[in-house]
Amino acid sequence: MEIKKYDVVVIGGGGAGLRTAIEVAKDPNISVALVSKVYPTRSHTGAAQGGMNAALGNVIPDDSPEVHAYDTIKGSDFLADQDAVFFMTEKAPEIIYELDRWGVPFSRLPDGRIAQRPFGGASFPRTVFAADKTGHVLLHTLFEQALARDNITFFNEYFLLDLIHDGERVKGVTIYDIRNGEVLFLQAKAVVLATGGFARIYWFRSTNAIGNTGDGQAVALRAGVPLKDMEFIQFHPTGLAKTGILLSEACRGEGGYLLNKEGERFMKRYAPDKMELAPRDIVSRAIETEIREGRGVGEGARAYVYLDLRHLGEEKIKERLPQVRQLAIDFEGVDPAKELVPIRPSAHYCMGGIHVENYKTSETPLKGLYAVGECACVSVHGANRLGGNSLTELVVFGKYCGMAVREFVKETDFAPVSESEPKKSEEFIEELMKREGNESLAQVRAQMGEITWAKMGIFRDEKSLKEAYDELSELLERWNNIPVVDKAKVFNTNLIEVLELRNMLELARVVAYSALHRRESRGGHSREDYPQRDDKNFLKHSLVYYDKNGNLKLEYIPVRITKYKPEERKY
Ligand SMILES: Cc1cc2nc3c(=O)[nH]c(=O)nc-3n(C[C@H](O)[C@H](O)[C@H](O)COP(=O)(O)OP(=O)(O)OC[C@H]3O[C@@H](n4cnc5c(N)ncnc54)[C@H](O)[C@@H]3O)c2cc1C
Repeated sequence: MEIKKYDVVVIGGGGAGLRTAIEVAKDPNISVALVSKVYPTRSHTGAAQGGMNAALGNVIPDDSPEVHAYDTIKGSDFLADQDAVFFMTEKAPEIIYELDRWGVPFSRLPDGRIAQRPFGGASFPRTVFAADKTGHVLLHTLFEQALARDNITFFNEYFLLDLIHDGERVKGVTIYDIRNGEVLFLQAKAVVLATGGFARIYWFRSTNAIGNTGDGQAVALRAGVPLKDMEFIQFHPTGLAKTGILLSEACRGEGGYLLNKEGERFMKRYAPDKMELAPRDIVSRAIETEIREGRGVGEGARAYVYLDLRHLGEEKIKERLPQVRQLAIDFEGVDPAKELVPIRPSAHYCMGGIHVENYKTSETPLKGLYAVGECACVSVHGANRLGGNSLTELVVFGKYCGMAVREFVKETDFAPVSESEPKKSEEFIEELMKREGNESLAQVRAQMGEITWAKMGIFRDEKSLKEAYDELSELLERWNNIPVVDKAKVFNTNLIEVLELRNMLELARVVAYSALHRRESRGGHSREDYPQRDDKNFLKHSLVYYDKNGNLKLEYIPVRITKYKPEERKY
């Protein structure tokens, strides 16, 4: 097996991985390997549309990092760690200006300053954007910056297999070369996981890229690192009805309405003040409630409500929402400038992730292991993320993680590692390739998609979650009988999909497990049998990990509350 040595290995070529790698590589003496299963510019960050939040106060000068922090904490249903939120909102403006200097083509006000648009749950127009292609331009600018640094080596189209560690310290990673089927060991002093989210566990209705399968989280879990707040999944209100493809929150930010089949702006009954610009958890539940009570169009899985953009006019739609318009035309067959757009909530974002212990450095409990971006749980989003706060999180925590990693590797040596440790990953792949069995990848994955949507979706209860947990455990067993039918070594996408499915099943089961034990409703976690938020018993983060016998264990840790006492959340 080939062994290569780098001071730092970053897994993930999205916004979080690239921003971290750029920061680490500022020291030319540090070598960085950047591993990505897709070519970096195809990472899901490139699909982000609406924008990113920073209190620049360019539209309304009253905005400030403090108001941004308050909105984020309230949006989180008071589960976010408040010191971490303040850290993010205070650093956000400087990082936006840095991106501006690096060449991100932000949309402008007539006087040339960076424009800002309103977004859900925000007190002021705070979201900076580049039309509705913010993630795309952010990702490409960061990729250019990373390419410019000679001490970053790219491993494009390599798949993370395992963390090599001794329970206390990480020693590197094993990766699979998708182009030729070889397994490599990258020895490292520090490893940064930046592998993105896992909303694809909702296989049939997700805004996420097909590759958002939570590989980094699953690998961390198997290495004994706890996952935090996994029960909190965000459903985006405006997925296209037929496909679940996202229409950005910018649609409502720019003034779009939501209508039921009677043509009524129903949000007045759910969030009379903020209306369509209430946070996503509230709007998604409102839409599902309209559908359940018969005010949606159609019934069951195919039901929907409408997004109305017609009053914005064709010119504004083409200037501010060109991608949204094209998506609606291509995938739903309607032109939003002229027609109503059928929409329904779609699984979008994972608030939970790898337990970060120190928000200033992004360290996890395993020494030398860091986590940044959607795969991490810092936690700045708590029980519900505000739109536009994820891209901000990537670049703020990416930068500061990079700084911390730079210091760490200067003071640290490579940990000794025996040949047999990384060898296990190679043997695992060899066995998997030989495996025989009569289960079908497509069928098991489809069943996962049905279970997650029906039993641990927007609404849940004890019975549905128990069933989800049991049925997902059974699917995990069945995974052992899924053969890799394609025996090729070159670009074996069948093998990759089998590996991804295991990761998704493990994470989906953790979501069910955490959700089952959180007997309250908070943010994106809505229990029909416990409809109230219960601060007395559940104002705390959940941590799930495997014990020595391979059983899931659950613990709780306190939420760090510094400035804002929990209050009832009204919009
Ligand atoms: C359609 C859509 C629109 C969005 N719009 C917005 C928005 O307007 N504003 C906002 O703030 N947020 C938005 N979000 C959320 C935000 O875009 C994501 O949370 C964020 O981009 C995630 O970035 P990341 O760097 O953590 O991960 P990603 O960009 O998903 O990148 C993950 C990287 O990890 C790599 N990787 C994963 N698994 C492996 C493996 N096994 N081996 C090797 N590499 C691996 C991938 O190749 C990829 O490079 C949106 C999300 C979606 C889906």
